[in-house]
Amino acid sequence: MSRSSLPQERRIVTAVPGPKSDALTARRRAAVASGVGSTLPVFVERAGGGVIVDVDGNSFIDFGSGIAVTGVGNSAEPVVANVREQVGAFTHTCFMVTPYEGYVAVCEELAALVPGTHEKRSALFNSGAEAVENAVKIARAATGRNAVVVFDHAYHGRTNLTMAMTAKNAPYKQGFGPFAGEVYRAPLSYPYREPAEITGKDAAERAIGLVESQVGAGNVACVVIEPIQGEGGFIEPATGFLPRLAEWCRASGAVFVADEIQTGFCRTGDWFASEHEGVVPDLVTTAKGIAGGLPLAAVTGRAELMDAVREGGLGGTYGGNPVACAAALGAIGLMRQERLAERARGIGATMLAALGDLRRAHAFVGDIRGRGAMIAAELVKPGGKEPDAEAAKRIAASCHREGLLVLTAGTYGNVLRFLPPLVMPDHLLREGIDVLAQAFAKL
Ligand SMILES: *Cc1c(COP(=O)(O)O)cnc(C)c1O
Repeated sequence: MSRSSLPQERRIVTAVPGPKSDALTARRRAAVASGVGSTLPVFVERAGGGVIVDVDGNSFIDFGSGIAVTGVGNSAEPVVANVREQVGAFTHTCFMVTPYEGYVAVCEELAALVPGTHEKRSALFNSGAEAVENAVKIARAATGRNAVVVFDHAYHGRTNLTMAMTAKNAPYKQGFGPFAGEVYRAPLSYPYREPAEITGKDAAERAIGLVESQVGAGNVACVVIEPIQGEGGFIEPATGFLPRLAEWCRASGAVFVADEIQTGFCRTGDWFASEHEGVVPDLVTTAKGIAGGLPLAAVTGRAELMDAVREGGLGGTYGGNPVACAAALGAIGLMRQERLAERARGIGATMLAALGDLRRAHAFVGDIRGRGAMIAAELVKPGGKEPDAEAAKRIAASCHREGLLVLTAGTYGNVLRFLPPLVMPDHLLREGIDVLAQAFAKL
């Protein structure tokens, strides 16, 4: 499935990080702000298919996809071909000055792919946070209301408004306030950590009750939610939660915004995670997986909401850059041609089965969850549900030494998350799972 010219193999030939990476880290320390961190400080030379190769010649199995970005793999053939052609034709004119076809073609693809048969419009931006900010702007302009409802454990970005919408304090918010106003946080459905069994619908009623009493239904411009939370720890709300929220929004005149920035573009086994329960959001924010690694983001939604903003009200110098649009068209074509949503489901089935075995074998594995190629293990102190961030950190470090890149997540930092490229060859997926199993056994 992977057409990368790089050998699809795990190969560790130096300490991790190796001497060349260490030398670059020394240069980095003197030049790069320390506020920008790195999970695994090996410097990359090439990447493709399911591997990342560093400057010391180590080849890592990639269970991160640059945080769910390179679903189609790094330097995927049609992405590279489209980018080469576009970059030779023109690199930027600014769509707000003189437009070009690529931008329109991406918006046409989004209209076809985003859930719902209603008429849609899109606007393109550079980053996920920028898309979320613009979704809020559009919802406010369309409703004439101010309040934004978000959820516990949410992650929506690092700009001022999206910091306010993000739940976790350190490292995302600590010291960076004051934050934007009119943002209200409601309780999520978090099946593993509910104090007592509660259905998705009842968990939605619990959130709605608080919104109605503390915010007022008539003040809510939008409810913004990740269908499966990303940075929050791959939390999948109980069945019925999302449909009930969407229904409440419809009845209350609030805009239902699905933040599909991490879940979108085949990652969870559907084009978009909202499809799983047949939810049709009013607005959808996308970014990460959209363009095979180039920076591009979008808000897509009901024509009457999107067109409520006066001309000139939306935009940005680089939004919908022609090279990024060309990359997106290549990436989306590949997703369709290679049926990557189906492939994600296959990855999920393999991973859930293997990780289920690990949960039965190890008392510190509290929960295994996720859909498609978005799978997580939540680690706890054996005998209860007390989060064990140290265990997650140690397992991640052990995987990194052995040549498997994994990421952590979660409000309590105790979740290992797995986001392999959807083009990951089977033998690498299985080898990655074996490395993981050994790291669990060593803990
Ligand atoms: C990553 C992410 C964002 C922010 O995207 P950036 O491109 O980093 O600004 C917003 N929402 C979700 C769900 C994300 O995963």
